[in-house]
Amino acid sequence: MRLFIAAELPEEVLDALVETQAALRDTVRGRYTAPDSLHLTLAFLGEVSAARLDEVASALERGCAGHGPVEVRLGALGSFGRRRSAVLWQGLTGGPELASLAADVRGALEDAGFAFDEKPFLAHITLMRAADLSRGELPMPGMARGMLDTVTLFKSDLSGARPSYEPLHVVSLA
Ligand code: ATP
Ligand code: MG
Repeated sequence: MRLFIAAELPEEVLDALVETQAALRDTVRGRYTAPDSLHLTLAFLGEVSAARLDEVASALERGCAGHGPVEVRLGALGSFGRRRSAVLWQGLTGGPELASLAADVRGALEDAGFAFDEKPFLAHITLMRAADLSRGELPMPGMARGMLDTVTLFKSDLSGARPSYEPLHVVSLA
């Protein structure tokens, strides 16, 4: 199964992201992320055998141990990829606690022998895919701050019309 680990976002941050998406609709065409699919990816594992689910879940528990809720605030817009078909995202800043949570989760996965995407962690929320950035200026994004208080192991299913993410194991940051 296709797995990734992500933090769910607080209501006030979600509202601001939806506001950013609304402001983008005037100028940028593409595939918008559904509001209930907005999340902060901490590690993308990709294909993992179902037999190893318990191991991933316990690695996630170990990675989160000792971490409390993390304060974050929304930042600037950014993009990956090609100008006419980009991933458009909004950045998230969270200070050293966010970086250290991501590093510990990734470290625990690594110690347990799981491979994951090794690009350096850059905290961002994907707002849309296949975004055509060639026309018009980007709007000012919505801004908000809030606390991340859970980290979740998700199963991703890309077989349908839209990606669907199913939570398999939720860890509370306490
Ligand atoms: P689609 O691939 O159909 O556009 P998606 O990217 O939302 O949908 P997945 O590819 O399963 O769904 O990705 C799940 C999460 O992991 C998303 O947040 C995605 O941005 C992130 N992700 C996917 N691939 C990578 C990767 N190679 N490196 C880092 N993060 C990734
Ligand atoms: Mg993808």
